[in-house]
Parts: sequence; C-alpha cells; structure tokens
Amino acid sequence: MKAVVVKGHKQGYEVRDVQDPRPGGGEVVIRVRRAALCYRDLLQLQGFYPRMKYPVILGHEVVGEIVEVGQGVNNFSPGDRVISLLYAPDGTCHYCREGEEAYCHSRLGYSEELDGFFAEMAKVKVTSLVKVPADASDEGAVMVPCVTGMVYRGLRRANLREGETVLVTGASGGVGIHALQVAKAMGARVVGVTTSEEKASIVGKYADRVIVGSKFSEEAKKEDINVVIDTVGTPTFDESLKSLWMGGRIVQIGNVDPTQSYQLRLGYTILKDIAIIGHASATKRDAEGALKLTAEGKIRPVVAGTVSLQEIDKGYEMLKDKHKVGKVLLSP
Ligand SMILES: [Zn+2]
Ligand SMILES: [Zn+2]
Repeated sequence: MKAVVVKGHKQGYEVRDVQDPRPGGGEVVIRVRRAALCYRDLLQLQGFYPRMKYPVILGHEVVGEIVEVGQGVNNFSPGDRVISLLYAPDGTCHYCREGEEAYCHSRLGYSEELDGFFAEMAKVKVTSLVKVPADASDEGAVMVPCVTGMVYRGLRRANLREGETVLVTGASGGVGIHALQVAKAMGARVVGVTTSEEKASIVGKYADRVIVGSKFSEEAKKEDINVVIDTVGTPTFDESLKSLWMGGRIVQIGNVDPTQSYQLRLGYTILKDIAIIGHASATKRDAEGALKLTAEGKIRPVVAGTVSLQEIDKGYEMLKDKHKVGKVLLSP
C-alpha cells in the first residue's frame, strides 16, 4: 500500500509503497476513510518529538472502517466505522481503568512510537478505538481525536458551566473554528478572536461576538470572560490572560513556536484566581461526547480542503496558508 513515511530525524517525508499491515493480538486493521493534517506533523518533521521511531508513517488523526481484527478483539468487527485516539493506552493501569487513559504511563503515540495514518490502511490498537455513530460524517468524526474531542476535554477540565462565556483565540484556524462550536454546544456564549479582517465574517457564523486584532483584551473585557481557549500560544497568551475575569480559566492548546517562552507574572494569576490548564489530548469518554454532539449536528466540520496521499505537499501548503479556514483533510 501507499503511505507517507518519515525516514529519519529531520529527514522529511516521502510517499512510498510499504507492506500492508496485519493485525496482531488486540489490534485491528482499518481502511483509512479520512485522515487530517495538523501543525503537530510539522513539529514532528522539525524534530521536536523525541520518542519517534524511524521510519514512521506520519499522521495521527483518522477515521476508518475495520477490515480485519486480530486475536482477542471482541468488541469490534469488520465493517465497524471507528476513530482512534492519538495514542494507544495499555487499558489496564489505574488511570486507564478510571477512564483517564490520557495519563497512562505506557501510552504509545501514533506517528511517534507507532505508525500513523497517512496511508491506505493502518494498524490500530483496540485500546484506542471509539465507534462512530451512524449520524456522524467521516469529516465530522476525523475532527474528534485532535480537535473537537480534545476541546471537549479541555472545557471539561476547565469545569465549564452553562451560560459562561468562552473566548477562543485563532478562531478561524482548524482548532479555533471547531472550538467555538464545541463551547457553544456545551452551553457557553462564545467570543471569537481573529487577526484577519477577511475571516471575521466566517468566524461570526459560529461566534456570538467577533473581535479582530492582536490586542483584544480591552475589547474582550466588555463582558466577563470565564474561559479562554488559546489555540495560538506565546503571541496571544498575555492578551488571553488579561481578558479573563476573576476565577477565569485558560485552556492552553496552541504552541505555535515551541522555542519561545513566556514570563508569567504570578501575582496577576493569584489575585485574579486564575487557573492555567495545559491541554493536549482526549480520552474515549471525551471522544464519545464530541461524537454525540457531531451526530446531533451541533458541531459541523469545517474543511479547508481534502488532498490525496500523492498531494500531501499541497496539503501542507494549505495548512500553512493564512487565508484558509478549517482543517485540511486527507483522503487516501
Ligand atoms: Zn493533530
Ligand atoms: Zn494505562
């Protein structure tokens, strides 16, 4: 089969033929229906992920159909449509048993220690699998592991209460445009921040209020902002912090430039009772929550474009294109 393979540390990728995967015990093989491109791929290609095995198949976001199950797989059958978490937990430790498998010591990452999903078929461990309800589209489902389910968990960790106001930075981005919808579906009022005048009207389709500009905190504070989902990172963190009313929580997702650090003024967070929540992934429970909202039509996938395996270069150009709105998908 064809796959996008990263040969070695900082050695880029190539589309090439690899052996078809066969499932081992506790594993299934899926036919990839949709995968999604992500900034994390770029960070992996730049060598920021220390645990990657080489060669490795790139890509960590997927929806597919099971074509073969390995030994000991009882709850899944060929024909099931599934998504995978971004990682494979062991399924046995106390974190896994409590449904907090994101904290599993033995977790292995797809496109890191395990082959990823930019391929015609992929091997997935059963501990990573979540069934997709019939009413959720492939496009909606592929957004769950790294985008909508991840945001859902972030808002759960932030104890979002109905009627609170959530501000989203980078609101026209692949994560941002969906974060607005997840927060809204969870009962929040939502404010979208974008630096692009051109994209403000699209953000306005999903947000109750739109703020355009990089200095957004003064405008934001015209109402109480209870939670910020910061999808950008160091360029927006200071304004995000200043936007919050007392008791506010910031869910930090974005880290566009991992080499940049931030000088945190502790007094400010102490006196304003602010919680900073670093956040990255989803558990099965969160994936199921986001899939349910997707199946109910409360989260609608926003797709910037879909490319084939051979068009992966074009996909990354689209990902980096400042004019695009939504996620770039891959259809092998
Ligand atoms: Zn991702
Ligand atoms: Zn575990």
